[in-house]
Amino acid sequence: GNGMEAYLTLSTHFSAAHRLARPDLSFEENSEIYGKCARPNGHGHNYHLEVTVKGEIDPRTGMIADLGALQKAIDDYVVEPFDHTFLNKDIAYFEKVVPTAENIAVRIGQLLRSPVRELGAELHKIKLIESPNNSCEIFGADLDAADVARQQPSAVLAGV
Ligand SMILES: [Zn+2]
Repeated sequence: GNGMEAYLTLSTHFSAAHRLARPDLSFEENSEIYGKCARPNGHGHNYHLEVTVKGEIDPRTGMIADLGALQKAIDDYVVEPFDHTFLNKDIAYFEKVVPTAENIAVRIGQLLRSPVRELGAELHKIKLIESPNNSCEIFGADLDAADVARQQPSAVLAGV
């Protein structure tokens, strides 16, 4: 179409606990990398999440995509599964991946990319604000590039 391209950001939040530690390292080694965040029983955050999608403004509706449907996708794929969990234990993905703000943002991007596409937009950016002191941004285009890298011969042979 000939619609003007625009970016739309939806904001939401969820509360979750995490512990930053690699299972293959000792407590001392983890403390060296992650500081207090490696303490054994975890701690919580009120995560603020901003999801930015990109698309053409539909001249008929004046929208990139159905706002309610986008909000529902974010609720269904991220907020509902993540809210009030201990990420390391309750979300299978984080049993092996340390749930830093970066890795949580990547996971949210992976979870939302297809649903956003089905709604006629492209996932542009995930911004995850973990605390007043830190936040992380990842971009949909980089997720695509990471996918291509994963699909090199070794991964293809493994049937990934
Ligand atoms: Zn933390």
